[in-house]
Parts: sequence; structure tokens; C-alpha cells
Amino acid sequence: CGIVGYVGGRNALDVVMAGLRRLEYRGYDSAGVAVLADGGMAASRKAGKLANLEKELAEHPLPSGQTGIGHTRWATHGAPTDQNAHPHLDNSGRVAVVHNGIIENYAELRAELADRGHELTSETDTEVVAHLLAECFSATGDLAEAMRQVCRRLAGAFTLVAVAVDDPDVVVGARRNSPLVVGVGDGEHFLASDVAAFIAHTREAIELGQDQVVELRTGGARVTDFAGAPAEVRTYHVDWDA
Ligand code: GLU
Repeated sequence: CGIVGYVGGRNALDVVMAGLRRLEYRGYDSAGVAVLADGGMAASRKAGKLANLEKELAEHPLPSGQTGIGHTRWATHGAPTDQNAHPHLDNSGRVAVVHNGIIENYAELRAELADRGHELTSETDTEVVAHLLAECFSATGDLAEAMRQVCRRLAGAFTLVAVAVDDPDVVVGARRNSPLVVGVGDGEHFLASDVAAFIAHTREAIELGQDQVVELRTGGARVTDFAGAPAEVRTYHVDWDA
């Protein structure tokens, strides 16, 4: 339902949680976050309101890092439980993804992953993406290229945002039939399903086009189509009152 991503110099968890609060008005049934910190991935997810996730984070704090993603879920596949809340991780726990929308061919992809020995631990359509992304990332060493390869295999509507331990200064996003906007800051970038999530930090934005992938680092945004052809990056000024 709501997505936030961050890469920059601040504490990513604070930025992501503040962004999720700004998206609360859209409604949701669960929430979760993942941050890259201390050379690893730390994630937390909870059914129910953001207050439940905040309580969990207070009881079991995550280490602080400067790259992170967050999600508020409106369940379509699988009950609103902790286990089905996003982010979803691959079996190594080194790749995490959040998703808005529906992966229509998830059943076929789940069967294929199970045949290759992957253990899926949720009832969501989303989890297949984490596993496929981890496979493509370990083959290519390039998270944006891995995202393009995975997107070419997906049917349906999706906004996807992912991070990986082995490329800790990058957040990658993709979209088809579902919105995703980049916020351009000074030495930092934001990704969100809605500008409301980052308007407190920057009003310079890039609207991703249909079937595009963005690779965000502190210093820049690189946009391509799903085949890898570079796309023109056009920034615009967001001028509505937050
Ligand atoms: N289809 C996904 C799920 O049920 C994502 C739902 C959403 O857009 O929040 O987990």
C-alpha cells in the first residue's frame, strides 16, 4: 500500500518511519522496515498499526544505518500477519524487498523456486520477488540489473523497492501500473509511492515512467527501462502544501 526508501547521510530508520507515518492516511493492515547496518540486514515487521511496529522497534532496536526501506501493507495475498508483512527477504537474508500491487504469476514462480530449493515462508505473492532478486543479484552482482531481469518475468501491477547487503549504498526501485516517485535531496535520495512521504525533506522529484527501474545512490539516480536502455531523467518541483 505505502512504500518508502532512503539512501543518504541520515539515520535511515528515522526517515523511513517518518515517511510511513505520512502515508498512514491511505489505510493499511501491517508495517515493516529493513535497514542495512553493520555489514548486515536488520528487519522488523508487525501486523496492525505503525504503533505496533514502533513498540517492537523500542523493545528490539535495529542497529542504525544509512540505507533503508519501509512498507505499509494492504493485504491481497495472505492474511495480515507478522509473517506476511513486508519487507520479504530471501533465504540468505541478504536481499529485502517491499511491494505494492499484485504479482499475478506468483504461483508459477513459487513452484519454480521451490524446485530450485528455495524455502518460501509467507503466503504472499511478494516473497517470490525477494528470492528471484537474490538469484539474479548473485549471478550479476548488480542490483539494478537483477531488478530488471526479475521485472521482465513478472505479470501484474507492482511497485518494488529493494536493498541488498552486498551493495549497501544503493536502493533500487521499479514500477508497472503502480506509482513510484524519487525525491532528490542534497547527498541523499528518497523513494516513495507518494510524494507525501518525503515532502518534508525535498520538493525536487523524479516521476518514474511505466516499466522503469531506478538505481539510487547518495549522489545520483540512474533510470532505465526493463531492458536496460537509459531513460531520460526529468526532475520537477512539487508544489502542493504538505
Ligand atoms: N500483494 C501484496 C501483499 O498482499 C502487496 C499488497 C500491498 O499493496 O500492500 O502482500
